[in-house]
Amino acid sequence: MGKFSPNLSTLYQMSEEHVIIIGNGISGITLARHVRKLSSKRITVVSNESNHFFSRTALMYIYMGHMKFEHTKPYEDWFWDKNKIELVNGKVIAVNTNHKCVILENSDELKYDKLVIATGSKPNKFGWPGENLKGVQGLYHLQDLESLEKTAQNNEVCKRAVIIGGGLIGIELAEMLTSRNIPVTFLVRETSFWNHVLPLQESEMLNNHIANNNIDLRLGANLKEIKGGENGSVKSIVIKETDEEIPCNLVGLTAGVSPNVAFIESTDIETNKGVLVSRFLETNIPDVFAIGDCAELRNSKEGRSNIEAMWHTGRIMGETLAQTICGQKVEYEPGHWFNSAKFLKIEYQTYGWVSAVPIGTHQHFQWKNPNEDKCITLEYNKDTLEFIGINTFGIRMRHDIFDTWLTEKRDVNYVIHNLPKANFDPEFYQRYENDILAKYNKQLSTLNT
Ligand SMILES: Cc1cc2nc3c(=O)[nH]c(=O)nc-3n(C[C@H](O)[C@H](O)[C@H](O)COP(=O)(O)OP(=O)(O)OC[C@H]3O[C@@H](n4cnc5c(N)ncnc54)[C@H](O)[C@@H]3O)c2cc1C
Repeated sequence: MGKFSPNLSTLYQMSEEHVIIIGNGISGITLARHVRKLSSKRITVVSNESNHFFSRTALMYIYMGHMKFEHTKPYEDWFWDKNKIELVNGKVIAVNTNHKCVILENSDELKYDKLVIATGSKPNKFGWPGENLKGVQGLYHLQDLESLEKTAQNNEVCKRAVIIGGGLIGIELAEMLTSRNIPVTFLVRETSFWNHVLPLQESEMLNNHIANNNIDLRLGANLKEIKGGENGSVKSIVIKETDEEIPCNLVGLTAGVSPNVAFIESTDIETNKGVLVSRFLETNIPDVFAIGDCAELRNSKEGRSNIEAMWHTGRIMGETLAQTICGQKVEYEPGHWFNSAKFLKIEYQTYGWVSAVPIGTHQHFQWKNPNEDKCITLEYNKDTLEFIGINTFGIRMRHDIFDTWLTEKRDVNYVIHNLPKANFDPEFYQRYENDILAKYNKQLSTLNT
């Protein structure tokens, strides 16, 4: 185990195994690049979405006019040829693990020595009446952006949109649509936005922020049905709790994602929600692996989910599996939990673990600014004072610093006193560390009296 330092001359003498990767997202592409760094194996990446890898997380900026599709491609188009990574634009419809081949929709068959399934996620649908009408869609693939461009080109074409599901993709879709002045109703099942993940202070701050951005936020509201008009397009939705009918031209389904694995369900590769893998990212079939959003760990590390549909996770899995495929078996090590997102104008980062409600010996320290657009929550163990994690809204913090503090098991006093070291806001931004420290000291003195 450990780091693999290949001797390139030996590697080039290795037999030219054919590695087929299904999916050209962050996990498949990271794997391909790293296998190429470590070996001269033949590498083929198959995808039915786009010819070249692009950043899915930047999809919103294309619709909002901040970027062109070209800008979302981290590598020039010649990169793949130069690095001898073959790209196939096609859909895999079946895998034959006995004959070690994948079958494409156009009937082409590709033989593999090693197969990696990196097919990502798909937006959830829950069997709602009308969920397949024209104008009902998720926001995941490039093709979703293309259909959005048609249905929600502007507020003449789309008089109102309704978004179902209050997660990170839902809020992005709301921001996208409001950037074109399309009125948005946002149906959120929870009683406060993302309150199953965020502490109440943060969740309530976001409720206000969403409403202040002219989004019609409906909390505690579930979808009953989507009604169609004459031409098979969506006409309205009905809210379950109140039977209220809301006319709309677009329904965005953003109630989470699930692994995109239907095409292997009739094979002998074991699946549950995702493709089941060991900590080495191996499936039950020799020479078949899975990584990224579509992989489900049989045994994840304590406190972590078996499926983590995150950019960062796909990247680490890709890097790890490259080493195993190139002869040095390495276990997937997820590292400390990290995530970042943007809720309209408020940036969010989380490092380590912050629960919505602290349990056992865990406790929260919270601070927010008077404008209520910046806040932090630190979670720590009140007995040992060990720092467990931090959520920050509106203040940028450095990933590497928190990673180190978590590894070093620093205590909460150390973290609070050293917050300026972690601040990553641009020069001349207002700083809040003194305020945070003052509140922390006040809280400590109250506890001690
Ligand atoms: C709008 C949006 C915003 C996001 N923002 C964030 C964020 O801020 N931070 C974060 O951590 N994560 C974010 N995510 C999640 C992140 O993008 C995913 O975790 C990541 O892209 C997963 O990478 P992947 O390589 O596993 O799969 P994917 O990126 O889904 O790539 C899989 C590829 O495989 C292709 N494919 C699937 N089936 C087949 C088949 N049968 N044949 C051929 N090709 C196939 C798919 O078309 C796709 O191109 C966001 C996702 C979306 C949709």
